[in-house]
Amino acid sequence: MRSMHCSACQKNGVPKTCVRSRLSVEVTLWLLGIGLGLTAGAWRAVTTSSPHALTTEVQEIALSSVSGSFVAANPVEVATETAYNTDRILAETTAWLTDVSFGFIKTFWWAMVIPVLFSLWRQFSKYQGCRACGSKELRPIEIQYG
Ligand SMILES: [Zn+2]
Repeated sequence: MRSMHCSACQKNGVPKTCVRSRLSVEVTLWLLGIGLGLTAGAWRAVTTSSPHALTTEVQEIALSSVSGSFVAANPVEVATETAYNTDRILAETTAWLTDVSFGFIKTFWWAMVIPVLFSLWRQFSKYQGCRACGSKELRPIEIQYG
């Protein structure tokens, strides 16, 4: 690139790419965002209502298998019912886990908005400035011939 004359500091030099903010600021924002996102996401996951049905179902199964072994005349029937309950528990647990995971990701991404926007702004606000003072006031050097 050609040398330019800086109107601000009166120096000549090849312009350099200047950014409006330091990398450390960007890194700090990202770390804060990730930390906040993880905390908020984890908090949401913890406070999301646990499947109440699950504990009840487990108790029911435990009871039915106990009573089944002693009372039920038809063990096949008990086994079928237990399998059915297990399927329901599996479905409920899967639904609950999906809900918790999506909630976590949603919350996490909201915390990412600020660092992402900051990085975009930082990337797109780059400009060619004076190597010495960072000023944008550059003009071509008038070369005197002769
Ligand atoms: Zn300058």
